[in-house]
Order: sequence, then C-alpha cells, then structure tokens
Amino acid sequence: MKARDIRNFIDGEYIDTGRWFDKRAPYDGQVIARVAEAGKAEVDAAVRAAREALVGPWGKLAVADRVDMLYAIANEIDRRFEDFVEAEMTDMGQPGQFIRHVDVPRGAANFKIFADVIKNVSTEFFEMATPDGRGALNYSVRKPLGVVAVICPWNLPFLLMTWKVGPALACGNTVVVKPSEETPQAAALLGEVMNAVGVPKGVFNVVHGFGPDAAGEFLTTHPQVSAITFTGETRTGAAIMRAAADGARPVSLEMGGKNAAIVFADCDFDAAIEGTLRSCFANCGQVCLGTERVYVERPIFDRFVSALKKGAEGMQLGRPEDPATGMGPLISQEHRDKVLSYYKKAVEAGATVVAGGGVPDMPDALKGGAWVQPTIWTGLGDDSVIAREEIFGPCALVMPFDSEEEVIRRANDNDYGLATAIWTTNLSRAHRVAGAIEVGIAWVNSWFLRDLRTPFGGAKQSGIGREGGVHSLEFYTELKNVCIKL
Ligand code: NAD
Repeated sequence: MKARDIRNFIDGEYIDTGRWFDKRAPYDGQVIARVAEAGKAEVDAAVRAAREALVGPWGKLAVADRVDMLYAIANEIDRRFEDFVEAEMTDMGQPGQFIRHVDVPRGAANFKIFADVIKNVSTEFFEMATPDGRGALNYSVRKPLGVVAVICPWNLPFLLMTWKVGPALACGNTVVVKPSEETPQAAALLGEVMNAVGVPKGVFNVVHGFGPDAAGEFLTTHPQVSAITFTGETRTGAAIMRAAADGARPVSLEMGGKNAAIVFADCDFDAAIEGTLRSCFANCGQVCLGTERVYVERPIFDRFVSALKKGAEGMQLGRPEDPATGMGPLISQEHRDKVLSYYKKAVEAGATVVAGGGVPDMPDALKGGAWVQPTIWTGLGDDSVIAREEIFGPCALVMPFDSEEEVIRRANDNDYGLATAIWTTNLSRAHRVAGAIEVGIAWVNSWFLRDLRTPFGGAKQSGIGREGGVHSLEFYTELKNVCIKL
C-alpha cells in the first residue's frame, strides 16, 4: 500500500504544516501514511475559523435546515461507506466485518439521532402571576456553547469522534477535533464529507498531533475554546480538567474502565459464554466497555473457564480484510509493550495462565504487527494489579464467587465504574444486582447493546457527565430563560 498524506482540515481546506509524523499499520508495522502535525499556529487558525463560523451562515441557520444538513452528512457517510471502512481498517487493524457492522454505521447514526433529538425535544414554558394582575411568560431557549474542542482516543475512532461531533453540530456549535495520533484517517476523511454536503467553512475542523505540549494541549488551553469533550484515559481526563479550569469551561469526560462481568450459575450458559468472549476480545480488548474481570458463581466456575479457554484458543488472528479474521492486533508496539508488561506481571503474581499469555506466531508478512494472544487467567484475587488496573488488551482474570452480596461488594471495590454485564435468568436478581453495581451502564444478558437515546457515561473515575439523547443537549447547549412581562 502506498503511503498517503493526511492533512489538517481548517476552514474548509486541507493544510500542510511542513512537520510530518508517520502512521504505521498495526497488523504489519508498515508506514501507511504521513500525517501533518499541527502546531500552535494551526490550532489557533482552526479555533479562529470555528469562532468566525459561529457568526456566519451556520449561526443563522434555522434548526430545520441544520437537521437537513446533519442528515445529508449521514447520507454522504453511507455513500462513502467503504472509504471509511478502509480508513478504520488500516488505522485500527480490526476485522472489516466488525468495522462494517459497528464503527461506520454508528458513525452515520450519530448524525441522524442527534438531528432527531434537536428537532423533537422541547424546552419548558411557565406562566407566572404578577401583582398587577397582567402576568408574565417564561420560556427557555437552547443556545450553543460556541467552539467545542473534541479530543478523541484511538479505539473505535470514527464512532467515538462522531458521538461528540454529531450532537455538538446538532446544537449549533462549531468544532475543532483532535483525533488520536494513532488514528488520523477517518477524521480527515470527514472533512471531505462536510465540504461535499455544503457545511459552511470553519464549522468542522481537524488538527492532527499528540497530547501534552502538542496539538491536544494547545487546543484544550486555547482561550477561545468554549467547552471540551474528551474520551480517553482517566489520567489524561484529569489533565484536561485542569486545563479547562482556566476560563471555567465545561468538560464532558468519558474515561477508562475495569469492567466486571458477573455470571450467576442460573445463567443461559451458552449466551453468557458468547457474550463474555465478545466483551473480552472484541476490537482486541480495546473497548472501554470491555470486560477484564469475570466473576463466575462457583458451581459453574470450572465449566465456564474451560469454555472461555476453548473460545479464546479458537480466535482467529489475521489481517482486517480477511473475512475469516476474528481478532486483529493491538493499536501499536507501545501499547503492546504495556499489555505484555501486564501479561508478565500476572505470571509474577502467581496467576494460572489458562489461555494465551504471550505473542502469537504470525506469518512472516505480519511479524511486524502488534499481535498478542487472547489471554485468560485464574488464581489471582481482587487485590492483584491485574484485577485493579485497566490493561486495555484482550485479556481477563476469572474469579469464583459464592453469593450475590459478596460479588456486588467485590465488583464495586474498584476505582472505575463504567460498565458491567450481568448474566442470570432470575429476574429479581437481575434488577437487584443492576441497581447495586456502581457503574454508568449495567447490561443484563447482553453486552454493547446501545440505544443512542439513553444516558452514556461513567461512575467514579470512569467519567464526568452523561451524553446520549437529551443528555447530549444538556452538555452542548446552555439554556437561556426569557421572561416577558405582559
Ligand atoms: P489517551 O488519554 O492517551 O488519549 C486520548 C486523546 O487525548 C488523544 O487524542 C491524545 O493525543 C490526547 N491527549 C493526551 N494528553 C493530552 C493532554 N495533556 N491534553 C490534551 N489532549 C491530550 O487515551 P487513548 O490511549 O487514546 O484511549 C484509550 C483510553 O480511552 C482507555 O483508557 C479507554 O478506557 C478510554 N476510553 C473510554 C471511553 C468511554 O466512553 N468511557 C471510550 C473509549 C475509550
């Protein structure tokens, strides 16, 4: 594959900067693109363009016209579907079937759903008595925040970026997106979509580069940025919150997790195995909602572990365009070093390696890729580093439990609180446990089933704020009260 050039998208134009960094394919390590790194000047130009666009035609567009434009963006994404698939496959290295089923359709849906929300959700109205008997009327108007900085991670890049850009634009804001340095392509491609459907210049901008002392920090510390929406690691979220304190700007933070699956002996066994294999290994374990702790009720523990082992060992690793591929590589060699360091720590702590535990033997053409084996451990407790820290790889620690009360306490004994998956056929228990687990999303007998109208976010150190449906409007707009004395 010939390396391509990926440029910043500022004020409707693709911009070089003269400073390039390489993007490598995760599956073979080959350079697939060079990316123009934005410095302070380009970030400033993007923010200024976004600010000017607020008062230009975009700011004057009626909600109905904005809604039409968001639908046009979604339709153009559908028309360019395979281009987005290719961008995501080569950036992430994950199987095409997953990207066709999840990333790209959800990317288009993120524009449609928030177009529908802004069109249909009303604000409040109050009639008020006054001493002169004539009264007053109060109504609320939703106003955009202004320029929203969108800081994105590398896992599910298109889905997670549009999850922020869709509602931000629906609410009338303009955006400057900083995609992850690992996954620049889909964001750059979205600029072409914006131009094709006639989104005014400056409404959508993309700056490429790194985080600290680079494009990410230049953007989040820019005084003309009105709000910051972020998805990524908890540590980075904390740094962004500090940056947002200057100017007292609002933040929405979707951060890390150490999610528990809870499998009761009365579960539908096959469904629980299928769901747990997906939640541990989808996207090579690089899903914020993925499972890294599996609590299994003791009577089915051995049977469950051997079924998980069989599933993990049956996982077919390969290139993203091969329809037989079930799992791709990790995003980069750096991330592989991190994941493998946990594989080592698990053994040092005395874990039993049930499946995987190392680097798979790949064909010569893929040896330069960031491959790791899907891995299952037993034999460690809740206090081990493997049970406490987010690894973000295709691995899980499986632990037995004896009672509902015990497993709730253990699942909650963690700094994170993003998601859980509860597997049981006992209806009362499902409600009880879902109510007691400290997370933003509790799935019962499923995983990753998402209705985009529902609140999404994390408890504890997994997040601040909720997005999704009307909750996104709460973040991306400010309500103004208009009071009219009659
Ligand atoms: P990361 O925090 O390393 O990077 C995310 C983004 O922040 C990148 O664009 C990066 O360049 C930028 N960045 C880094 N430092 C910055 C700084 N000081 N100022 C401004 N920008 C900065 O995260 P990652 O490794 O790309 O993604 C994986 C993490 O994301 C995992 O922890 C995962 O759980 C989390 N995640 C959470 C959700 C969720 O919805 N809660 C979804 C997906 C991923």
